[in-house]
Amino acid sequence: MFAVHLMAFYFSKLKEDQIKKVDRFLYHMRLSDDTLLDIMRRFRAEMEKGLAKDTNPTAAVKMLPTFVRAIPDGSENGEFLSLDLGGSKFRVLKVQVAEEGKRHVQMESQFYPTPNEIIRGNGTELFEYVADCLADFMKTKDLKHKKLPLGLTFSFPCRQTKLEEGVLLSWTKKFKARGVQDTDVVSRLTKAMRRHKDMDVDILAVVNDTVGTMMTCAYDDPYCEVGVIIGTGTNACYMEDMSNIDLVEGDEGRMCINTEWGAFGDDGALEDIRTEFDRELDLGSLNPGKQMFEKMISGLYLGELVRLILLKMAKAGLLFGGEKSSALHTKGKIETRHVAAMEKYKEGLANTREILVDLGLEPSEADCIAVQHVCTIVSFRSANLCAAALAAILTRLQENKKVERLRTTVGVDGTLYKIHPQYPKRLHKVVRKLVPSCDVRFLLSESGSTKGAAMVTAVASRVQAQRKQ
Ligand code: BGC
Ligand code: MG
Repeated sequence: MFAVHLMAFYFSKLKEDQIKKVDRFLYHMRLSDDTLLDIMRRFRAEMEKGLAKDTNPTAAVKMLPTFVRAIPDGSENGEFLSLDLGGSKFRVLKVQVAEEGKRHVQMESQFYPTPNEIIRGNGTELFEYVADCLADFMKTKDLKHKKLPLGLTFSFPCRQTKLEEGVLLSWTKKFKARGVQDTDVVSRLTKAMRRHKDMDVDILAVVNDTVGTMMTCAYDDPYCEVGVIIGTGTNACYMEDMSNIDLVEGDEGRMCINTEWGAFGDDGALEDIRTEFDRELDLGSLNPGKQMFEKMISGLYLGELVRLILLKMAKAGLLFGGEKSSALHTKGKIETRHVAAMEKYKEGLANTREILVDLGLEPSEADCIAVQHVCTIVSFRSANLCAAALAAILTRLQENKKVERLRTTVGVDGTLYKIHPQYPKRLHKVVRKLVPSCDVRFLLSESGSTKGAAMVTAVASRVQAQRKQ
């Protein structure tokens, strides 16, 4: 009995010491409520800068009009094709929206690989590859004889002047195909599809994954007016009053704005909260100097941040008795799925040991506790930052509507949000703390980003049909 107590005492003391050590080392990564409120205010200012005509050209946060004006009203129906490029996986789908008058979405999909030679090679070949995958899908699903409308989910910043056009502003995440920037991705894909004489597909819409997510959630919940992605990359969109969108004619109704919040900080606005690890990660990335906010938040980067921290701690003799392994020195060896596994409630500590051993290290009990806490600080900072920017969007919506309390729904999708055990809870809690005047519901949109393009296409063809009547 006594021995058990002693063990428990020993463990809690050990834990306390390790946590203190890591907290001290990562002091700069732990953001106080005041800092979060400050970031929230800064993001509010960024949104305004992006929306106004005279400041938009120099704004880091682009606030891109999407030409999505209507949210699904449930009367949409038909069969649509959709492509999803730019998330963690490339997918082709056939989506059936509503059947026999019933509100219901059914989809059949197929994943295709996206090798680096394709996504970082020649742009024309990238679109030809995408068209080939679509042709393959239509062949297997026996759809080639049909004329189907297609919606493209393209998860990169695009300048749009209509729904069926998107000029790529810059690649982000893992993509870097040559000769695509500043060109319209819809015409590029249309051209690539012409090589398949037996295919008759009409691209009706190109949508950002955030927009797709919002639209998919809005089909189930009419309060949904915000879409957030916390996956490989991160971003959000929301419904803005037309009267506040300088870049688009007209003052009636609302339009969805793709904020491209990942670029928050690209003009130096977040330098005071960026750490040496953020700077090092940025220098080793495909797009140095770009997507500063995203690099502190999203799944493509979290694991790498953890690795850089562990390496520095080992070098300082604070971990692994000062030993480093070659894996710990290798970029990309720690991934977000590892961070998620290390933070699991029960198995977390055991997972941590296993992961560290796989990295060629010999961790002590104390090391495992410390590493687990490093993961917590990094992923918590990510959730905090997302929460601050999202809170800014919610207060903006509230002001636009001039209501004392805002009842709203946020649609969320993305691998990090889905696989990390604590992420959603932390995010929700911080958002509610930052905007106590909002009653916000979070709706996980299963495959929302993908289904969404079909939703947008469905709405577009409904609106088209109504106009013709
Ligand atoms: C892109 C956004 C996208 C987000 C999530 C970012 O890197 O710039 O357009 O919505 O990733 O996929
Ligand atoms: Mg996606």
